[in-house]
Amino acid sequence: MTEYISLYRKYRPKKFSEVVGQTTIINILKNSIKLNKIGHAYIFSGPRGTGKTSVAKIFSRAVNCLNSVDGDVCGKCDNCLKKIEDEIDIIEIDAASNNGVDEIREIRNNVKLLPSNLKYKIYIIDEVHMLSDSAFNALLKTLEEPPSHVIFILATTEINKIPSTVLSRCQKFNFKKLNDVEIEERLKYICKNENRLNSVDDNCIKLIANLSDGGLRDAINLLDQSLSLNENIKSDDIYNLLGIINDEEQFDIIKNIVNGNIKDTINYIDSLYSQGKNIPSIVNQLQTKIENIIIYNSTNNYFSNDYEKKLSQFSKIDLDKLIDISKQMFDLLYNMKKSTDQKILIKIYFIKMALTFFDNSLQKNDSSNLKIKKDDKDVNDSDSETSIVDNKNILINNCLSLANKRSKIEFIDKFNIIKDYVTDKKYNSIANLLLKSSPEVVSEKNILFTFNKEFEVILFDKNVDLIVKFLKLLYNIEYEVVGISSENWKEIKKEYISNVKKGIKYVYTDIKKEKIVSNNVKNVEGKIENIFGNIHVTEE
Ligand SMILES: [Zn+2]
Repeated sequence: MTEYISLYRKYRPKKFSEVVGQTTIINILKNSIKLNKIGHAYIFSGPRGTGKTSVAKIFSRAVNCLNSVDGDVCGKCDNCLKKIEDEIDIIEIDAASNNGVDEIREIRNNVKLLPSNLKYKIYIIDEVHMLSDSAFNALLKTLEEPPSHVIFILATTEINKIPSTVLSRCQKFNFKKLNDVEIEERLKYICKNENRLNSVDDNCIKLIANLSDGGLRDAINLLDQSLSLNENIKSDDIYNLLGIINDEEQFDIIKNIVNGNIKDTINYIDSLYSQGKNIPSIVNQLQTKIENIIIYNSTNNYFSNDYEKKLSQFSKIDLDKLIDISKQMFDLLYNMKKSTDQKILIKIYFIKMALTFFDNSLQKNDSSNLKIKKDDKDVNDSDSETSIVDNKNILINNCLSLANKRSKIEFIDKFNIIKDYVTDKKYNSIANLLLKSSPEVVSEKNILFTFNKEFEVILFDKNVDLIVKFLKLLYNIEYEVVGISSENWKEIKKEYISNVKKGIKYVYTDIKKEKIVSNNVKNVEGKIENIFGNIHVTEE
């Protein structure tokens, strides 16, 4: 009987040329090998299943390959042919399996010994953020004076948890989530090779890619399970495998909530339990759907036409209420991890959410506040919208004008305290939100946060006052804060770098004064608005 090898293992890349995506990283690594400029410590960070460990293993082989071709492994020499598990000079440590102190201590003792077979002795430490403080200290001592024959590759999904002292001694590579097309192509390639192209149609491939959220490993494992299940796979098979539900069922649950239909909401949850579904994943699905509805209701043409048609049934729902239930889903997901009785907890939360909409009609008459405001500014409605955008641009400009590295290091050093507040009554949602952020630009008085999801930016904007209060509590500074998406930041950063190179200087603008004179300022700024839209700059 032959042993069944999982598709993931079978199609795990053995050469740089076989790695899906991550091209920039691969090119840099290959070049360093070609030029023989190899570092002694690398950190590979990024979401799960994006190739960190695979690339670490390939790099370990490529630096030791006897006939390296263009910086890649040759696949034929003695070093390439040997199984990586049998290679005593390539040492893999899983920091998640224990706290690692003993293993790191052992590294410190053995690191000075020359490799037995290879040119370089390599330590791959997976999930390195799980190391205890004392293990990190031990590791740091080794990283301070690494022998020339040793290379450390540290892999982590949570780079925020790595001490800055360790980070500063490593070359950093940030692995990105793969896009759906990259995953789809790889899945098709595998199906073709397995002679199963007829078993899975394009829609299923798309669904698998979409559900695996940028992680190739999850995608291949899901494909593997689906293929072993049926001769012909349907999308519902895939949903069933994961214990999740399809779009229609998700929309049904949300409909019950926004109609304030408590009884049907609870019945639905009961039936999901009796079908043995994966409830945390379903809550996750619902959270994403609500995010999508919020984005659909506040922007245009963000999703495909077909999907927007489905979302349009919720176009009349009050945005604040949607944001409120989305926050509650956030909290629910967090609290579920600790709860001893998930089912009751979920019911309580869903009743709470449905109640938000239960007295919908009553509240509508009550909340005339909003209405009056809207009627009031009928004339200059569009003006007020642009001023929000203006303000944000000024805040971004202000951050860039004062940014300094020392403030950032000091800020990030204390950032971990936020974790103490994830269960705090008042600040739990803020803490959870900020933990998803990355403080990109920091000065003594302002901070620019970036978020991976557009939706998190909306949440940030909605809660700015509370965030300022929270940060004051932690840092004793009343920061001016602004949140943007990481996509957006990429472009702003590019512009910023090119402006700085041109000698263009950023000037701080007092936002409170700006509010009063904003109309006059706009004209003056017209001349230079091509530089940043509405960001204020002066030329030197
Ligand atoms: Zn080789």
